[in-house]
Amino acid sequence: MAVLENSLMANPKKRLPQNKPGDFFVDETCIDCDTCRILAPKVFAESGEYSYVQAQPRDLQETRRTLQALLACPTHSIGTEGDQKATLALGDFPLKLDERIFYLGYAAEASFGARSYLLKIAEGYWMIESPRWNLSLVKSLHAWGGLKGIFLSHQDDVADADRYAREFGAKRVIHQLELKAQPDAEEVLQGKGPWPLEKGMEAIFTPGHSAGHCSLWVDKTYLFSGDHLWYSRSRQDLGASKEVCWYDWPTQIESMEKLLNIDFEWVLPGHGRWFYDEKIKMKERLQKLIIWMKKQV
Ligand code: SF4
Repeated sequence: MAVLENSLMANPKKRLPQNKPGDFFVDETCIDCDTCRILAPKVFAESGEYSYVQAQPRDLQETRRTLQALLACPTHSIGTEGDQKATLALGDFPLKLDERIFYLGYAAEASFGARSYLLKIAEGYWMIESPRWNLSLVKSLHAWGGLKGIFLSHQDDVADADRYAREFGAKRVIHQLELKAQPDAEEVLQGKGPWPLEKGMEAIFTPGHSAGHCSLWVDKTYLFSGDHLWYSRSRQDLGASKEVCWYDWPTQIESMEKLLNIDFEWVLPGHGRWFYDEKIKMKERLQKLIIWMKKQV
């Protein structure tokens, strides 16, 4: 059972000294992926290198969010020595972010804890990026009616997409230049797009972070931005990073400029934080980001 495995794997002997005394703790295997701090910001904080428990959960709601973080943690670095039952939170994923968007949790270490999502469309559900394989999640997805497709922005965050595709008979969509991560993907995007995938749903070519990186734009509202664009806590605004730009920074800037031509109010990234703002303000933020990016060249 995944939950027992989680509880066992966080090692109390490796408990970080910064943890506040109490049942929940983070051990030294933490890779600082930010997942727990997003899910339970009152409980987890950042030390610079790790997350740690800054305050033990004070009520049922905080305990529930902490257990969600325990399940979502990609490295099983969160543990509890109390009698809290992680099974309480097993059915919480997919976790609702918006009427049509859900966070899937169960992050994969191979994807450095990348976020993955479920998108509701009229005909069913699409998975965006992939979580690690988890039977509780599989059961929930079956109960919700399964998956129609799996959109993969690029090669880094594919996790167990192949297993989910097989389980649900879902097609994986990825660009040809990213294909080495999923060589048997069912739908391969060629060239520079854009590519219509469903009604109101379009893949957009956003190379830069990687050579064939694509983003998914849905109903002029949602932008699943992979590792191209995210909300940055350090900038307190939209962000991108030259340090993790593996292909070409000027190309990433060009791809960012392309996004000025489309409207969206949600940024749903692979790494960094998801973020909502009005369309007009999102555009202003994007313009500011592009000016900042050009200064990093
Ligand atoms: S979710 Fe796990 S790996 Fe990520 S920051 Fe929290 S403890 Fe560390």
